[in-house]
Amino acid sequence: MARILDGAALAAAIKQEVAEEVRGLAALGVKPGLAAVLVGHVPASEIYVRNKVQACAELGIASDLITPPDTVTTAEMHALVAELNARDDIDGILIQLPLPPHVDSKSLLDAIDPAKDVDGFHPVNAGRLLAGRPALAPCTPAGVIEILKRSEIPIAGQHAVVVGRSDIVGKPVAMLLLHQNATVTICHSKTHDLPALTKQADILVAAIGRPGFITPEMIKPGATLIDVGMNRLATREEFDRFFKGNAKREAAFAKRGSVVIGDIDPRAFELSGAYTPVPGGVGLLTIAMLMANTVRATKMRRGLR
Ligand code: NDP
Repeated sequence: MARILDGAALAAAIKQEVAEEVRGLAALGVKPGLAAVLVGHVPASEIYVRNKVQACAELGIASDLITPPDTVTTAEMHALVAELNARDDIDGILIQLPLPPHVDSKSLLDAIDPAKDVDGFHPVNAGRLLAGRPALAPCTPAGVIEILKRSEIPIAGQHAVVVGRSDIVGKPVAMLLLHQNATVTICHSKTHDLPALTKQADILVAAIGRPGFITPEMIKPGATLIDVGMNRLATREEFDRFFKGNAKREAAFAKRGSVVIGDIDPRAFELSGAYTPVPGGVGLLTIAMLMANTVRATKMRRGLR
């Protein structure tokens, strides 16, 4: 029977460790601080940021929520980033994406002090990650590694196949797996005969953004499946394709009018050795790793171990 890799339990363990580190810093008179910048009113972003601010409060990390209107200009955002870079009480800066289309997101992410770049998106941190130097790694990929390690799933020598090559998930997760001595294959939309590659995976990481894209025929029985995808099924037809007759999901669909599904068809989970469910898997690690990165940034900036 496939083992469920429970994101809630793993995230709780990480948060507990972070809270301990925060208490240790308090004894030195240091309180980590995270600035969260939320522009305008994107409902999903509002929920994500609220959860991040709440996690800070739970763990004893100070947070400063800054909410510019969606009419904010790129120049005004640059001034804000410069101010946050200069503030000594701020150890981590997070700009919730997406920004309004008229704002130049890339130039802003590049303007964040790499030492405060807790999302790990700055080219300096991407380069340090590539070079195997201490870096603030992107939270979701770092969470994937934590899931595997804490679940005692062997990585070294295993064939890890990553489907997706985004700067935020696919590339950094592939690099982190390589640093753990996996043999890594990265696939994308131009890959020929994708199933032939996914079927070789001991560890399959799906970061595609397409509901249930990885089907049972595409996996090796007994493989570990890490599903990063977060997709919403909002029509009855889409819902029935994956969850017809599933009482729990039916109840959720009736209540909310949609359900969340990953990039892996849930029927593939039954054939796996272990898998991360959606919801309840990788997504829950992302915030825990953001908290861990904030404490890491706090220590690194102050030269603390
Ligand atoms: P992107 O859209 O940036 O990247 C998707 C990748 O999938 C691309 O590299 C693309 O290839 C590849 N792809 C698309 N179609 C195919 C195909 N038919 N065959 C093979 N590869 C394909 O998405 P992200 O990396 O940002 O996110 C991926 C998923 O992870 C999304 O569902 C997102 O919501 C979720 N996510 C979840 C997080 C969490 O906390 N759980 C955090 C971040 C993301 P190409 O490069 O050739 O276009």
